[in-house]
Amino acid sequence: MISQEKLNKTEPGMVAVIGIPHDENSSFMKGAALAPEKIRSVMHNGASHLCAENGVDLSAEAGFIDLENMVLDGKTPATEVIESTISGLVEQGVYTISLGGDHSVTYPIVKAYAKQYGPMNIVQFDAHPDLYDVYDGNALSHACPFARIMEEQLAEHLIQVGIRTLNPHLREQVDKYAVEVIELKDWESSWIPNISGPVYLSIDLDVLDPAFAPGVSHHEPGGLTTRDIINFIQNLNTPVVGADIVELNPKRDINDMTAAVAVKLLKEIAGVMIRHNTLEL
Ligand code: MN
Ligand code: MN
Repeated sequence: MISQEKLNKTEPGMVAVIGIPHDENSSFMKGAALAPEKIRSVMHNGASHLCAENGVDLSAEAGFIDLENMVLDGKTPATEVIESTISGLVEQGVYTISLGGDHSVTYPIVKAYAKQYGPMNIVQFDAHPDLYDVYDGNALSHACPFARIMEEQLAEHLIQVGIRTLNPHLREQVDKYAVEVIELKDWESSWIPNISGPVYLSIDLDVLDPAFAPGVSHHEPGGLTTRDIINFIQNLNTPVVGADIVELNPKRDINDMTAAVAVKLLKEIAGVMIRHNTLEL
């Protein structure tokens, strides 16, 4: 849950950042639960200002709010807390940018969005498709969220970008759920999705090359540049109604450089959301 005092400040059309300090479903290495606080500390460390490249100044923007972190104390299952918290915001007409946590958080977030918007267009940036039916005996593993999303028909269209880790089981899952996979070997930098209507954007930082984002649990060389994702965000021609930035692992980071990438992407997504929402929604 988040504080009522903060919730009272949200209004329809606002862009709200919310932290989800949760890494219980990480398969290989914990640490992503530390990400939201790290991203905030780097965002406010004075090294750079809060203007997006499109001119939206988040520090002066009444439509931008940080709701701090969800409280996940284990008394209520995290998936329930995440779903109900995001639902409360989305029902109110707020656009959320969630800071993971590992990628398992996306399933309850998308559940909340689908209740409001119906099955969504989802664009997932990731080195991994996260489509395992079950991983290490855990159906809620961070390796599985998009299998859950697809089997519950929460997505009208799932597009995965940056994938470079398919194996036979994952290829079967891709076919089973009719996922549009753009493997990184086939991707072009000018690509934008051929979709209409609102988009939910899920960014797993391991889509980036480890040279740009070493602070993730699963290093998968041969990835995107930071600018590739920024260009995509800026060129997207349909409204982004929700987003998450997941899988930052501060324990693996070098000089907070991956946290700085997360801040940059957060600023660019928020800038585009505020600009689009003001002009088009
Ligand atoms: Mn992922
Ligand atoms: Mn990944």
